[in-house]
Amino acid sequence: MVALLGRGVVPAETPILRADDLGALRGDGIFETMHVRDGRAWLVDEHLARMTMSAARMELRLPPRAELADLIEEALSAWAPGVEGALRLVCTRGAENADGPPTVYATIAPVTAPALRARHAGLTVVTATLGFSADLRQSAPWLLGGAKTLSYAVNMASQRWATSVGADDVLWISSDGYALEAPTSTLVWLDGTTLCTVPVERTGILPGTTARWLLDHAGKLGWSTAERMVSPAQLAEVDGSWFTSSVRGIAPLRTLDGAELPGSAAATAAIRDLLGYA
Ligand code: PLP
Repeated sequence: MVALLGRGVVPAETPILRADDLGALRGDGIFETMHVRDGRAWLVDEHLARMTMSAARMELRLPPRAELADLIEEALSAWAPGVEGALRLVCTRGAENADGPPTVYATIAPVTAPALRARHAGLTVVTATLGFSADLRQSAPWLLGGAKTLSYAVNMASQRWATSVGADDVLWISSDGYALEAPTSTLVWLDGTTLCTVPVERTGILPGTTARWLLDHAGKLGWSTAERMVSPAQLAEVDGSWFTSSVRGIAPLRTLDGAELPGSAAATAAIRDLLGYA
């Protein structure tokens, strides 16, 4: 299902990109992925705020917020409310050398079976280095830390590499040994009664909307919250660790580099319920 800014809902097979669109040529664009539940997109304001920030970092002309919100509603109007979905909102720089408008569209697809399964069954995860120090992106704006760009080839290659070594997903590590994030999710962990995540400002990881919402509401589970640096070895000593993301929601880490990680099914269920995932 595809909705295109200015054209409305069109069948998914309708061509909507020019061959010289910079999004296709260079991954030169930004996107957001939202969870569709009960016919509505969850955390729309948060996703549009992050998209505005990504656009600023990319010096990209994003259409006004109201137009993007309308596009989301248009796409949702053609989606069966009973079906859990993943809504992607995409904005590319448009055609090369044209100085024209950006290309803007939304797609919705059903949540995949592996994502639904991981919420309950959890993930086997392997660490993989990104090759730079945890705070490099603070002083290297060209690395686009914190921006959700269309340049996800490395993210997807990381996940393919995980599959090739028999794991479900990757935890990216800095050259100085800190856990950063996963190719499509944020790391959160429970240390006693403190729910933690990795600091965004220091590391330049993507500010995850799901992790932010979870930490903002963790008091309902009796937990305080903190932003901390953590090493893979330290994750073996905590009371549970999870990857959070808009569509998969919450997935417990079962093993890291082959070693079992501590965790509790009760904590996973409590977080899943709080976040409203099935
Ligand atoms: N980190 C990266 C690199 C991501 O691509 C994503 C989402 O796709 C996340 C974290 C999780 O962000 P959110 O919870 O907003 O989906």
